[in-house]
Amino acid sequence: MTKAAVMYNYNEPLKVESVELKPPREDEVVVKVAASGVCHTDLLVTQCALPFPPPVVLGHEGAGIVEEVGKGVTDLKPGDHVVLSWVQDCGKCDHCINGKPHLCVSAHQGMAEGREAVFLKDGMEIFRFTGVGSFAERTVVRAAAAIKIQDDAPLDRACLVGCGVMTGVGAAINTAKVRPGQTVAVYGCGGVGLNVIQGAVLCGAGRIIAVDLAEQKLNWAKEFGATDVVNGKDVDAVDAVRSLTAGLGVDYAFEVVGAAAPINQAFMSIKRGGAVVIVGAPPVGMDIAFPAAMIPLEEKAILGSLYGSANMRRDIPALVSLYMHKRLKLDELISRRIKLAEVNTAFEAMEKGEVVRSIIVHD
Ligand SMILES: [Zn+2]
Ligand SMILES: [Zn+2]
Repeated sequence: MTKAAVMYNYNEPLKVESVELKPPREDEVVVKVAASGVCHTDLLVTQCALPFPPPVVLGHEGAGIVEEVGKGVTDLKPGDHVVLSWVQDCGKCDHCINGKPHLCVSAHQGMAEGREAVFLKDGMEIFRFTGVGSFAERTVVRAAAAIKIQDDAPLDRACLVGCGVMTGVGAAINTAKVRPGQTVAVYGCGGVGLNVIQGAVLCGAGRIIAVDLAEQKLNWAKEFGATDVVNGKDVDAVDAVRSLTAGLGVDYAFEVVGAAAPINQAFMSIKRGGAVVIVGAPPVGMDIAFPAAMIPLEEKAILGSLYGSANMRRDIPALVSLYMHKRLKLDELISRRIKLAEVNTAFEAMEKGEVVRSIIVHD
């Protein structure tokens, strides 16, 4: 048995209750979850903006300790400290072979086969969100989801690397590959946007312009390394970004909201030959319109960035190591530490913009 936060219906609070955990299959491991961040994507699922069939245990930004391994698992053992990856690469598909394990298609196959249902309540199967389901004291994941990290890293901070940090930092270092001295604008300075900013710092970006509508988020942005901040409530953000770059525009504009207006503003903020990197998750069904002529005539590129274009086994331990060497901020991302039973309050705080991250910490 384990405690878990289950979504039974959209637009309803999660129900925290005891559920059964199925034993691990050959390629799975049982993880005692130490901590789990509450990410905006979890909220989107509860609102049906990113549909995932209930009943499901949400949570996809977790870290913990391996308790038990399936018969076929050779690279993990009980006691290993792991960060959970919400993409489980197969190593065999076209994307994995081509060095893009974050685009692996196997996670979706697993769901179709019903393999994702690892929790049971009175005989009813309950799915694990994105193959993780970290809003639980224990979960069962495929071995590919459990990325081993160094034992001395605090799990209640390392968990953040599993989604928000990897997504944001990776967008700068992997997707855009920002070079030292290049200029960057970041539209949207919530949990992921702040990590784009610190990713750009790691890359040596010359100018990092943070754009948001909330003063509090712009203060956070400065703490994370923004060189300039622009409040889109007070000024035209595109004009402001251009004037801060001598009229040129930036090399890369990251959009971390997932809405049409900031995506367009990001596009209009880049210089000739620049790229807009779309990191935010737009609601399914949303279309965006660009002035198409600028794409060839100004050689403007539109890049999508999923999970920070991560090579999970390479990047997750590396980001944890950067934190341990004080080169990456994780403590500053944590606004609140809560119990699993308080998970619904974390969603409310997120909607009010009160927190960067709430972390569910288990005893
Ligand atoms: Zn997330
Ligand atoms: Zn694959």
